[in-house]
Amino acid sequence: MAHRFLLLLLLALAPLCLDAAPASARSGKLAAGMVAAANPRAAEAGMAILRQGGSAMDAAVAIQAMLGLVEPQSSGIGGGAFLLYWDAAAQKLHAYDGRETAPAADSPDQFLHADGTPMDFYEAVVGGLAVGVPGVPRLLELAHRNHGKLPWAGLFQPAIALAREGFQVSPRLAMEIAEDPYLNRFDTPKTYFYRPDGSPKQAGDRLVNEPYAETLEALAGGGADAFYKGRIAEDIVKTVRAAPGDPGRMTAADLAGYQARERDPLCSGYRSYKVCGMPPPTSGGIAVLQMLGILENFQLGKEAPNSLDAVHLMAEAGRLAFADRNAYVADSDFVPVPVARLLDKTYLRKRAALVERSHSLGVAEPGQIKQKAAVTRQYEPPSTTHFVVVDAAGNVVSMTSSVENAFGSRLMVDGFILNNQLTDFSFVPQVDEVAVANRVEPGKRPRSSMSPTIVFDDEGRFFAATGSPGGSAIIGYVLQDLIALIDWHLTAQQAVALPHVVNRNGVTDLEAGTALSGDVQALTARGHEVRLRPLVSGLHTIRRVEGVYDGGADPRREGVVLAE
Ligand code: GLU
Repeated sequence: MAHRFLLLLLLALAPLCLDAAPASARSGKLAAGMVAAANPRAAEAGMAILRQGGSAMDAAVAIQAMLGLVEPQSSGIGGGAFLLYWDAAAQKLHAYDGRETAPAADSPDQFLHADGTPMDFYEAVVGGLAVGVPGVPRLLELAHRNHGKLPWAGLFQPAIALAREGFQVSPRLAMEIAEDPYLNRFDTPKTYFYRPDGSPKQAGDRLVNEPYAETLEALAGGGADAFYKGRIAEDIVKTVRAAPGDPGRMTAADLAGYQARERDPLCSGYRSYKVCGMPPPTSGGIAVLQMLGILENFQLGKEAPNSLDAVHLMAEAGRLAFADRNAYVADSDFVPVPVARLLDKTYLRKRAALVERSHSLGVAEPGQIKQKAAVTRQYEPPSTTHFVVVDAAGNVVSMTSSVENAFGSRLMVDGFILNNQLTDFSFVPQVDEVAVANRVEPGKRPRSSMSPTIVFDDEGRFFAATGSPGGSAIIGYVLQDLIALIDWHLTAQQAVALPHVVNRNGVTDLEAGTALSGDVQALTARGHEVRLRPLVSGLHTIRRVEGVYDGGADPRREGVVLAE
């Protein structure tokens, strides 16, 4: 009882004071549910729906609507997402793909200059050309139709109310505004995110977003059609096509034709657990499962968390997985992706045999898969958000959602940011006459790294759900979180806080300012090129052990865990 009172007290305080919000929570029995999300307001919106008896999916709609308001740099209805849903009663896992698509008029060479050289990254990001057809509204509608309990319209009410009432800019949002060199390029975001004197809004400044309230009202009343057809769709098309300096090619037909897809989740055994993620167009599920399949050949459970050997092995597994990712993984509706072969345990055992404890294998070659591949590397900096919800019935949502770069394309319309997700395509369409799998094609979805994950124990019971933002480093963050939960038996909070190591088949990145900096010499002696840098994950995780749920919110961001 005292425990419940404390939680309720923390819940009451959470919206008032960001710093006092609980980062982690534990609960034996969930009367309403548990939420781990990147912003206290968003987590509270989810809890409000759960308290009304809503399902995890109902809460997810409310959380996403709120994140688009209070964390607009990371995700929103103008972006895309992947969502895993565990239906506890049916004991069935569903995977939903709301990834953006390239407009019908887009072409493989659109991110090349006239002389054939690729554009600089931000040259492509800012403006209309990289805006993909948003997927979030259709995704939420589809998944809510299948798993919602409460009426759709009510789920938007917390975000509509706060958009009108106004909210205080959080320290992280203020930092993102202050550091962004492009956000004041276009009039609408300039008026919204800056003070009248042109200086960036500060933490504690108020933001009121009436156009967003109106957009959500339209969505609430008219369903996703209100977004993809009619006035909002026309506004999106106009904004994209008229972007000064960098117009895009999106049409009303592109929006009207967008479909979210239910896909088969990808699952593979890891030790006694079953780990499930999203299939393409994200590379996240494949890469995380490949790394686990490689690491299964080593006794990580005997290592202390983040021991030198463990850090070395995780880095080596990253090299091998990224070699395959960069060669073979893209939208499987457009190009053949050898998914079964890439996840085959015998294949992964052979890949693991390339790993030595004493010395790094250096830059890895992709595995021989009897398929021609052109390898490219893409700059993929972090933004994005991840949240997890468990409801009282044990249903689970694990959703990663993104506008790609911080503030996406920097275009803003009807109260929300438009994504720049098409820069996740390869700018270079072919290498040595071989077409790059992840080249731009009309209607195609750009390759992602988003890795929403749900894990089950040996009796098929829910064990954990996790995911993170972080560009292509997402894959390393999620892998490490899973190792921490499964091999090292850490709590969700300990797991998300563990200092990071990431290798994307090149430099071994270690999280600066952590105990890992002590490993630089030893890893260099093993042949790693080591770089110390900030690795700003945003892991949100819920775990269940012996009937007790515990949640973790990444201390590197503003997230919280709430439970009742
Ligand atoms: N656009 C990235 C992806 O889909 C996510 C960006 C990020 O997390 O920073 O993989």
